[in-house]
Amino acid sequence: MNLNISALDFVQEVKTGNISVEDFVAKTIERIQNVDDKLHAFLSVNEKSIDQARDIDKRIKSGDKVGDCFGMPISIKDNICIKDSKTTCASKMLENYVSPYDATVITKLKQQDAIFVGKVNMDEFAMGLTTEFSAYGPSKNPWNIEHVPGGSSGGSAVSVSAFECVASLGSDTGGSVRNPASFCSTVGYKPTYGLISRFGLISYANSIEQIGPLTRTVKDTAFMLNLISGLDPNDNTTIDNKNEDYLSGIEVGIEGKKIGIIKEMIGEGIDSEVLSATKDAISRLESLGATCEEISLDMVKYSVAAYYTITATEAGSNLARYDNLRYGYDFPLEGYEFNSYISKARKKFGPEVTRRMIIGGFVPSAGHAGKYFLKALKVKSKLTNEVNEAFKRVDLLVSPTVPVLPFKLGEKIDDPISLFLVDINTVTANLTGKPAISIPFAYSNGLPIGIQLMADSSQDKLLLQAAYALEQTVTLPEVPI
Ligand code: GLN
Repeated sequence: MNLNISALDFVQEVKTGNISVEDFVAKTIERIQNVDDKLHAFLSVNEKSIDQARDIDKRIKSGDKVGDCFGMPISIKDNICIKDSKTTCASKMLENYVSPYDATVITKLKQQDAIFVGKVNMDEFAMGLTTEFSAYGPSKNPWNIEHVPGGSSGGSAVSVSAFECVASLGSDTGGSVRNPASFCSTVGYKPTYGLISRFGLISYANSIEQIGPLTRTVKDTAFMLNLISGLDPNDNTTIDNKNEDYLSGIEVGIEGKKIGIIKEMIGEGIDSEVLSATKDAISRLESLGATCEEISLDMVKYSVAAYYTITATEAGSNLARYDNLRYGYDFPLEGYEFNSYISKARKKFGPEVTRRMIIGGFVPSAGHAGKYFLKALKVKSKLTNEVNEAFKRVDLLVSPTVPVLPFKLGEKIDDPISLFLVDINTVTANLTGKPAISIPFAYSNGLPIGIQLMADSSQDKLLLQAAYALEQTVTLPEVPI
């Protein structure tokens, strides 16, 4: 049985009776057992998957109504709550946390008969971009296991890329869906802010983050968006997309569209292979009938600094609840005074989360806020103005998703600043709330390179049409695992 199948093809094959859900899910679990020792995408595997699959087969046979996913095996990043399952955020702090409720995206996918095959690895609390900051050990890139798979949704990208599931959900605060998608050769989508409910996503920097799908094809992403987007009374930042159908019209092409090439994202620090792939992407976009022009976003050079200042501040307050009393209780209060208790409790955070918490306490504090936090907010609003101006002139923006190739495990782990800079091309979409997608585009020595397209707010449909058009020009090799 071929596990390398798109979500839409999976649904079709099940509907026409060519494959049974039970066989497919059983093979998927077997695949996880065979390759995940090497890849470490999964933090937990859902033992009920095969029973659930069998039940769906039965319902199909007896002509009962079955949801649009038809038992499709999906992996879920471990910061998205599934009722009665562990949700650890890859942290020791939440090692034993069992969620008492479903995230809205999970409720919606359950209604459509998706099967959650397991929870997947990530950087602790989604802070990082290699999965090396997981408290449970890093995931490995299936294209070369000595290299990082990207992050923080590394487990999501690895599991899709290595056929351990058909699609995955990750979260993207500054690139965490698109970066691993690029490094592992999958599609990764960060929607317009508010398009997908964050209810049940454990917050890191809630003013800019979104849940997003990782899939094998652009159409699969559109399919997933159809299922999980839209207004949610439990998340008042969600927007009403009027039940948009992202699949319909996806093949219209990009004839006559104007595309801006972001100058600041193809300059200093970019690997030569990534640059030449980007040039190739631009010429393909042109041959599809689009016109491309270079465009400058001056504020991009401050975006990483602003991003880390704002996200650390939000993390400082979002993670304050982890005090070993409300979550992670494993030693009693007696015998401690308050500060020493909290300080012992916080030792359960790993080095990166600790670093962010310290920065997050300092940058917005009295006497320092003007120099750091308020300045970062100014950069955010100036960058948003610049991007809004750009979208008066062009329909889409293009850049490499990540300026460098997937690097080796351990290579940058001790150098946080050089790690932070890898986010230079992805954070703009988050700081401005715009939708952005990474699609697999090229390879250098077998290592994947992704291309990013960005669109104006609520232009998710246009973005998917463009991504689909570009995707049709690419032939992907088989993952060597
Ligand atoms: N690398 C970024 C960070 O560490 C992005 C993480 C994310 O998108 N969750 O904050």
